[in-house]
Amino acid sequence: MVVGVNCGHTRTGAGCGANGIISESEYTRKVGYALMELLKNNGAVVIDCTVDKASSQSEYLKAVAAFANNEELDWFISIHFNASAGHLANGVEAYTYKGRKYQDALDICENISRFGFENRGVRDGSGLYVIRKTKAKAILIEVCFCDNEDDVRKFHEAGGEAVIAEAIYSGIQKKTENDHIPFDAYIGSIARRDWKERRILLPSVVVAQAIKESCWGTSELARNAKALFGIKLNGWKGKTYIKTATEQKPDGGIYQVKNTIWRAYDSWEQSVIDHNDYIATRSTDGGKTLRYAEIIGCIDYKKVCAGLQSCGYATAINYGESLIRDYIEKYHLSMFDEYSL
Ligand SMILES: [Zn+2]
Repeated sequence: MVVGVNCGHTRTGAGCGANGIISESEYTRKVGYALMELLKNNGAVVIDCTVDKASSQSEYLKAVAAFANNEELDWFISIHFNASAGHLANGVEAYTYKGRKYQDALDICENISRFGFENRGVRDGSGLYVIRKTKAKAILIEVCFCDNEDDVRKFHEAGGEAVIAEAIYSGIQKKTENDHIPFDAYIGSIARRDWKERRILLPSVVVAQAIKESCWGTSELARNAKALFGIKLNGWKGKTYIKTATEQKPDGGIYQVKNTIWRAYDSWEQSVIDHNDYIATRSTDGGKTLRYAEIIGCIDYKKVCAGLQSCGYATAINYGESLIRDYIEKYHLSMFDEYSL
């Protein structure tokens, strides 16, 4: 696969991007270069169609199209961040020639919207130079609004450029363990089976955590380490995977820990079972007390989610609430609890 990636706009001067709460030109580069890395690491040939400086807007646009048309691309992807007059508009959208609803384009919007952004859909981009003048199948992605406070917060909370790059990547290259079974149904079946046997963690909560933490099985950990939950070593003797961790401070600030070591598995099923093992056995005092005692076997998803939060499962400050609101209730995941209580 040969993919042309354009980090939208020049850095400064003519052709420069919008200046919102974050700078468009800066963040198109963060997302674009993360996407290029991901594509290269997975065997794609990447053509960088980014132009840092131009004497005019039209010279900038021509230079981008020239880069793209120099090669036989399978995809031309231009990354942007949106802005609106009153700074109130929000959400993700994508533009294609004549608004063609390529499945990949629909999936990219859907994947990004799963971080809480409104999905504004795939729109007609025939009027956009880099869509109209490029020969390859082309998409221009407006990740979210760089001048909207909620959107910028969601972008950072989700994990920033790394997770957006993954959401875009998995839209154009989808190969996962569950192939033709919906992700929630697949994980739900494993969670229910284990619940019936061992009564550790309520299935709706397992599925919500798996969706949230792995972005529906598309995250780097889910793909490369078969790990649906970000569980660090904590005494683990099995396979491992090294990747940067995104953590949140109690005041809401986000920070990253490079070279974090994560548990890795042979399959998603093993990951779900190990996550339940972890909940059932995690102790920080040599086994005298179990960290998650209050939620083991509990059949009330609200109590379980609140318990995960209060027992310190995640550093994200709204982790428990988000499991309930953004996943269990939104996607009716308590259906996985029926008949198995
Ligand atoms: Zn733009």
